[in-house]
Amino acid sequence: MLRSDELLKALRREFKINHKDFVALATRDPFELLVATILSQNTSDKNSSRALEELRRRVGTSPENLSRASGEEIAEAIRTAGLHRTKAKALRKLADEVMRRYSGDIKRLLAMPLDKARRELMSLPKVGEKTADVFLLFLGEKPTFPVDTHIRRVSRRLGIAEGSYEDIRKSLMKFFNPKDYLEAHLLLISLGRRYCMARKPACGICPLKDICPKVFEERG
Ligand code: SF4
Repeated sequence: MLRSDELLKALRREFKINHKDFVALATRDPFELLVATILSQNTSDKNSSRALEELRRRVGTSPENLSRASGEEIAEAIRTAGLHRTKAKALRKLADEVMRRYSGDIKRLLAMPLDKARRELMSLPKVGEKTADVFLLFLGEKPTFPVDTHIRRVSRRLGIAEGSYEDIRKSLMKFFNPKDYLEAHLLLISLGRRYCMARKPACGICPLKDICPKVFEERG
């Protein structure tokens, strides 16, 4: 079985993490991170970053600003993210709930123990397990491992994790050292975007071709 140190070594050699490529790295503001994650659903990070920028400029991204704005104003500002009306509704709902429950201050969740904070986040509208884990790992440096579609696919091909969201999260938390969770998360996504695509993975030029157990099978 692949070792985490050899995997990370190969990935570090190949990829430089660029903040512009990950919308969740574009902010240190806890509520804005939730906003960014909702905007990034079903679209590229490039489109969602543009929508976030526009939302900041036209409406603001605090819970106060979003709960005061009209759905139409928000939808117009986030048009480039796609599904803009649905996402605008989701943002309003989330902002209202954060105002009601925490008087707009969601940062206090970062002071809670991991499992409690995770449960609390996941009880908010439109915040699922991945968003909760991104929030806790990226901002709170809590030991959890968010799983997105790229991570699910590359982990299965690399033979390091498979199954439900929770199965994959737990396997990756065992496989990697906690100090590497954030970097490993970003590197696996980079691998999935550039080489290990869902259709036609580029095994022939992949930096992991000498250590990946699926290389021949997937090359087809
Ligand atoms: S060798 Fe192929 S299957 Fe393995 S990680 Fe690279 S692209 Fe994916």
